[in-house]
Amino acid sequence: MRYHLVTLGCPKNAVDSEHLVRLLSQARHEAAADAAAADVLVVNTCGFIDASIKESTDAVKELARGKRHGQKLIVAGCMTQLYGPKLEAEVPQVDAVFGVNQWERIAEMLGPAEGETIDIPDTSRLSSRPSAYLKISDGCDRPCTFCIIPTIKGRMTSAPADDLVARARTFAAEGVRELVLVAQDSTDYGHDLGASDGLADLLLRLAEEVPELPWLRVMYAYPGAVTRRLARVMASLPQVCNYIDVPLQHGSPEVLRRMKRPSNPTTVRAMIELLRSEMPDLAVRTTFIVGSPGETEAEFEELLAFAEEMQFDRVGVFTYSPQAGTPAAAMPGQLPEKVKRRRYRELMELQQGISYRKNQDQIGRVLSVLVESEPGQEDGQWPIFVGRTYRDAPEVDGMVICRGSAEPGELAPVTITGAGPYDLFGASPQEIAVVG
Ligand code: SF4
Repeated sequence: MRYHLVTLGCPKNAVDSEHLVRLLSQARHEAAADAAAADVLVVNTCGFIDASIKESTDAVKELARGKRHGQKLIVAGCMTQLYGPKLEAEVPQVDAVFGVNQWERIAEMLGPAEGETIDIPDTSRLSSRPSAYLKISDGCDRPCTFCIIPTIKGRMTSAPADDLVARARTFAAEGVRELVLVAQDSTDYGHDLGASDGLADLLLRLAEEVPELPWLRVMYAYPGAVTRRLARVMASLPQVCNYIDVPLQHGSPEVLRRMKRPSNPTTVRAMIELLRSEMPDLAVRTTFIVGSPGETEAEFEELLAFAEEMQFDRVGVFTYSPQAGTPAAAMPGQLPEKVKRRRYRELMELQQGISYRKNQDQIGRVLSVLVESEPGQEDGQWPIFVGRTYRDAPEVDGMVICRGSAEPGELAPVTITGAGPYDLFGASPQEIAVVG
């Protein structure tokens, strides 16, 4: 059978899709890039916010419109966990609906293709890029009032460290150079297994037992949950990128209290200071939500001042989107979209200036660039390649556009020669020698 898989949402969903691809490959089903050529259409949906629900529903409807006689349409993932029956009623062409973590059931439903099943390691990648995501836990025990994830995914469950090390080894053997650790809350890793500082333990094991992986990157740390030991472990292991993603969501104590996030910016400051003292060249990424219920102009100003003070390297900004079933959706003081969009623009503009200055500071540094592109040519004459430094996570951060030649997966030394607010420009040492 040939299947066409559409994945929406975050990197954690991408990891789930990879798992499904592995199961289907084991049963000898083949992927089809073109929906029309497939026997089965599968959509891995996202239900994080209303916009994601709409995007997922639209994707299902589009496939349903083109569905031909004999084709199957299967929908799974976060959105269907919540709204499966509603979607089935709305899109009658849907043949089967599964919730989260039911990938084995989809594989069972399709059954094996003709011939023997084949053994495929418990990892596979959606693309040939040199990075892969390692989902270390799923679910979340935090009470954030705007978030539906705990309802969808349930309690946090960590993957056993032995399994994660084995997966990391397989990834490395497949040519992966960067492993990006993802979870809803990576700093909570191992608590359910009795560990008090599980993420630090896991990083130590990965670094020691899979030394052939040159880059490990930590995403989705929880504010205030980074221990001194974790900061030291990150600093002491050369493989761990001096980079951290800590979604802070806001800078006003009152807004954070309403969000049921750690409401003390002093703790957050202390955590960032601790990390920066252990890793002076640390790049910090965060995300903020603007326009949550009741956010006053003064509270938004506090957020701007906080962002200015903290000088984050990378910031993602989201406008608040009410999610049915969350406490925040029922709160008074829902703001008009116009206000949310204006605040979004203001924060983005402020951060653009900060990111630009931070990028300018990189000029003159020689950094290792993980090459992502096939070699190309600029204006038909200069060889160029594109990659990322330790300061940029795949898919969410910037790139480095470099003069020189290097192959995908290579860690190439690059002198940074220019910078914009998002991307850097550089040249490999040979190019500098030629030009100089
Ligand atoms: S920590 Fe993240 S996933 Fe967990 S409830 Fe809060 S926002 Fe949602």
